[in-house]
Amino acid sequence: MALMTPELSLIVPVYNEEENLTELIQRLLAVAKSIGKDYEIIFVDDGSKDRSVPLIKEAIQKNPSLKLIRFNRNYGQHSAIFAGFSESRGAIVVTIDADLQNPPEEIPKLLQKMQEGYEVVGGYRMNRHDSIFRKIPSYFIAKMTSQFVRVPLKDYGCMLRAYKKDLVKEMVASGGTSTYIPALANSLASSVAEVPVEHRARTKGKSKYSFLRLLHLNFDLMTSFSLLPIQLTGILGVLIALCGLGFSVFLLLMRFLKGPEWAAQGVFTLFGILFFFVGLQVLAIGLVGEYIGRIYQEVRQRPRYRIQEIISSPPS
Ligand code: UDP
Ligand code: MG
Repeated sequence: MALMTPELSLIVPVYNEEENLTELIQRLLAVAKSIGKDYEIIFVDDGSKDRSVPLIKEAIQKNPSLKLIRFNRNYGQHSAIFAGFSESRGAIVVTIDADLQNPPEEIPKLLQKMQEGYEVVGGYRMNRHDSIFRKIPSYFIAKMTSQFVRVPLKDYGCMLRAYKKDLVKEMVASGGTSTYIPALANSLASSVAEVPVEHRARTKGKSKYSFLRLLHLNFDLMTSFSLLPIQLTGILGVLIALCGLGFSVFLLLMRFLKGPEWAAQGVFTLFGILFFFVGLQVLAIGLVGEYIGRIYQEVRQRPRYRIQEIISSPPS
């Protein structure tokens, strides 16, 4: 029987996870029951095209503590978690992936750490079972994000995390266009901790992050939490201008010292260098565009997502 206000909310973003859901639901329920607190499990369907929705609906019939939020299309994992956040009622809110890469059995570890009074407890993946092409960038992204947000974490990508209710409310209220949740949470939280968690290889279904999607997510992360990229571009611009000036003076001197033929031979080198500068200018324009684009999105106040329907079992 679902109680009015659960103490624990579990949020699961789901995008085409039909092969994982049955086992996931079974294991989540076992863990939730073992914790011994009133709980709710909120699945957020991020526009799945497979049998994910019917599977979750079926589980809701059997267990009134489950709930489903359905998006009208695919908006991305972080938007899905946001929707779960705004529906959640628990004093502690835990997010977990649906693909069983984060074992549900690790949730109690996060909760135990939360008891020490932290506002956020993130998991960091021990022996992460992903390809090297994911692990190496992740390492540098965590370093960079730690700098930007000024909260050092080993793992900014692990989505097995626990939050206090107040912080969740704050995040939901923060609006904005960026939804990179671990960074946003840390930038608002007063105390953050990290605990080691197990990580498994994905055995069923495929990763929903293509190279382009990952690039987009990290570009978003980079420009949302810091002005450093654009500031660095400015500094780089000044340096390049100085180099250009120095080089011109050098060419002029050589022309006087060695005669006009000398300078003419360098014409192709000059072309190469020119193209290099042009490339950098384009990069700078791109960065400016990114920030302006952000302002534009903010001004438009476009919602993060649209909910198609919310399904929970009727009160008995
Ligand atoms: N996911 C989602 N919407 C998306 C992409 C992913 O809701 O657009 C969910 C997905 O179903 C899974 C979690 O987010 O529950 C993590 O996705 P995935 O395992 O593909 O990411 P990876 O582990 O490769 O980083
Ligand atoms: Mg995964």
